[in-house]
Amino acid sequence: MRVEMLRTFLTAGLCVSAGAFLAAAVTTDDISARAKKLHFSSIVVDTHDDTTQRFLDGNFDIGARSTTGSIDVPRMREGNLGAIFFSIWIPSKITGPEAVHRALVQMDAVRGQVRKHPNDLVLATTAAEIRVARKQGKIAALMGVEGGHMINSDLDVLRKFASLGVRYMTLTHSGNDEWADSSTDKVVHNGLSDFGKEVVREMNRLGVMVDISHVSDKTFYDVLELSKAPLIASHSSCRAICDAPRNMTDQMMKDLAAKGGVIQINYHVGFLSQEFRDAEKAHPEINKAIGDEVTKRCGDNEACQLIEGDRITREYVAQGKLPRIDWTKIIEHIDHAVKVAGADHVGLGSDFDGANMPYGMEDSTKLPQITEALLRKGYSEGDVKKILGENTLRVMAEVKRVSRELNSLPRK
Ligand SMILES: [Zn+2]
Repeated sequence: MRVEMLRTFLTAGLCVSAGAFLAAAVTTDDISARAKKLHFSSIVVDTHDDTTQRFLDGNFDIGARSTTGSIDVPRMREGNLGAIFFSIWIPSKITGPEAVHRALVQMDAVRGQVRKHPNDLVLATTAAEIRVARKQGKIAALMGVEGGHMINSDLDVLRKFASLGVRYMTLTHSGNDEWADSSTDKVVHNGLSDFGKEVVREMNRLGVMVDISHVSDKTFYDVLELSKAPLIASHSSCRAICDAPRNMTDQMMKDLAAKGGVIQINYHVGFLSQEFRDAEKAHPEINKAIGDEVTKRCGDNEACQLIEGDRITREYVAQGKLPRIDWTKIIEHIDHAVKVAGADHVGLGSDFDGANMPYGMEDSTKLPQITEALLRKGYSEGDVKKILGENTLRVMAEVKRVSRELNSLPRK
């Protein structure tokens, strides 16, 4: 289209302006080419994906291109997703030994997928291992536990998880656990309990990143004060743009950054868009209808529920019953977080396969758009690389350094 316009322009004989137009056209194309080169030469890290649930039903093979969901090897390669944290997740209401057992089953499922695809995937636990995977042309698979309820208030269980390769734990999911308050539950512990403090200390010692997505504001500040290592918010967005209690306020982002942490922006429309959130609130019957339809299609198959929830929500958007949210909303959140916290403290935590994705960010093949959009906004190549993954790699290395230091001290 651009070439045709140029031809018309030249035929009209407006030679002086044509020169300017040509320069503009070249600049635009130049950014696209630069973005492509930058994106595919970067290590892109995503700190939160719910794909693990799909491994459990036995029919999903991450090595094959799927027509549903957002993540598989071919689509990760197409979007140059180089490192992925598979979420180990069960609902907050499942507690005790069953929670531990189900978490272990999921860890085994992740490790099983890695074993099945040795040419494409490799289990990684450090930033250095992610870089090695990259050099070998493999995708680094990592694990994060989403919810402290899975350790059943037992530090031995936490240590076992760490030994199996878990490298972050989100202190709560949407409900409180026995030792920390969630942002979407009532105040019970007033933040972190004494045992919760033991958990954070042990995570620091083990080199497991402390993830404050989902926790209450008070829990966040308790953890921030206590932790010897920087924190992550593995999949959170900005509360100033979308008033969800599990998003971070500007002040929280500043305080997180001051101690070296990173907020990895979540792509879920209900955390990105106030308009979407308001529409959901105004029409609780729609949410109920979506929930009923999900149950009808999936029964208690959680992987199916997560994937179908997104699909059914899109049906409501198509019917005009919910607002259509565009992927550029992700850029708005990244840009806001960068303005508030700085380019050294923002990353990506999609929530793919576990949330409702905005239009244009249906799967990992769409990731290069983020790079191009940030360049078009005037971001430097160095800052874009940091946001795509280097900031998360820096935190991982720092958490490991702190762990090594703590382990060299005599135990109290
Ligand atoms: Zn979550």
